Amino acid sequence: MPAKISTVDCVVIGAGIAGLVTAARVGGHGRRVLVLDKSRGVGGRMATRRVGEAVCDHGAQFFTQRTPGFHGVVEQAVHESAVVEWCRGFARDGSIAVDAAGAGDGHPRYRGVRGMTDLPKWLAAGLAGRGTEIEVRTGAKVTAVAIAADRVRVSIEGQDGAAEVVEAAGCVLTAPVPQALDLLTAGGSLDRLEAHAIERLRTVDYDPCFAVMLVLDRPSLLPEPGAIQFGGDAPGPVAWVADNQRKGISAVPALTVHATGAFSREHFDEPPEEVAAVLVDAVRPWIDGDPRTAVVERSVHRWKFATPTTILPDLFVSVSLSPPILCCGDAFAGPRVEGAFSSGAAAGTMLADRLGGGGR
Ligand SMILES: Cc1cc2nc3c(=O)[nH]c(=O)nc-3n(C[C@H](O)[C@H](O)[C@H](O)COP(=O)(O)OP(=O)(O)OC[C@H]3O[C@@H](n4cnc5c(N)ncnc54)[C@H](O)[C@@H]3O)c2cc1C
Repeated sequence: MPAKISTVDCVVIGAGIAGLVTAARVGGHGRRVLVLDKSRGVGGRMATRRVGEAVCDHGAQFFTQRTPGFHGVVEQAVHESAVVEWCRGFARDGSIAVDAAGAGDGHPRYRGVRGMTDLPKWLAAGLAGRGTEIEVRTGAKVTAVAIAADRVRVSIEGQDGAAEVVEAAGCVLTAPVPQALDLLTAGGSLDRLEAHAIERLRTVDYDPCFAVMLVLDRPSLLPEPGAIQFGGDAPGPVAWVADNQRKGISAVPALTVHATGAFSREHFDEPPEEVAAVLVDAVRPWIDGDPRTAVVERSVHRWKFATPTTILPDLFVSVSLSPPILCCGDAFAGPRVEGAFSSGAAAGTMLADRLGGGGR
């Protein structure tokens, strides 16, 4: 059966923080925007999951808001009870909590009220409130991005396997850069793209990350505010450990443990349960009792593209001027939520300008 073909003004690939803010900036003035994400929900690496009776953030753990644009959004999200301040800094090792006591940088660290997906869910609800102008579709995997005449041709595979093609005047890719490059390569239009832009994107690499979630039978022994952020030179395989109950999102004690980039890279292809055992051993000092009985449930997640190790200096990269195709996300403005937001906002503003007032 031939693929269904539809038309919009702009396709945004990815409904993480960068994609959602891009859509917010492009939508308006009669422009129709379609946001596509392959996952079941929005948020991307701002991810929360249920493990038994516990709720665990297993991607981003908190965010800061040091830039004016993001500051305003976070203030509004706090006002509407989607986001709340967690603390002003973290213990840097297991013995002292100087940052938590206010001796650190003192910047507020925020979390979603029920988990880190709350901020992207709140942003997506705001987009839905704008009527038919912006559609956010999850469970929609983009398989290729091509240029056909003067339009962008985006191929999609839905959850039911049905193929669909969307044609658009412009497109923004917010997937991690290697995945964005795969989509452009699959489209077969590389010869129509800016060669130097593609070369720059090819320099972007990411560290993977093993995330282990451990539901405990009693409170953890973590210092205030319930998390430790290990410095880059700390020995051992752990970069972060947090108690989701102390954080305020889980009814029962449950740890999220993140391995360092170096450890995750070295062990990425090993059986996840064996890697998890090493990480459980490393956080044993903060588990009250023998982990063999104190850990009542566990879950392991492997992030293949967790944190960019190369940050490009521009807020986004334009891979095609006509039709406009931009790449943005946390590899452009800093490897964190706030950076992804700034990058998406800049790309969205640029595309809105390029598209002018609607009219497919
Ligand atoms: C383990 C971990 C811990 C972190 N800790 C922190 C932290 O404490 N503080 C902080 O500020 N940041 C943290 N980060 C980084 C932060 O999560 C990211 O910088 C930010 O969420 C990136 O947002 P984004 O929109 O650029 O990308 P993403 O959130 O990755 O969004 C990209 C979206 O594209 C979608 N996608 C990809 N390919 C396709 C396709 N073919 N078709 C359709 N959709 C597709 C994905 O499903 C995804 O939803 C952490 C990240 C990880 C993984």
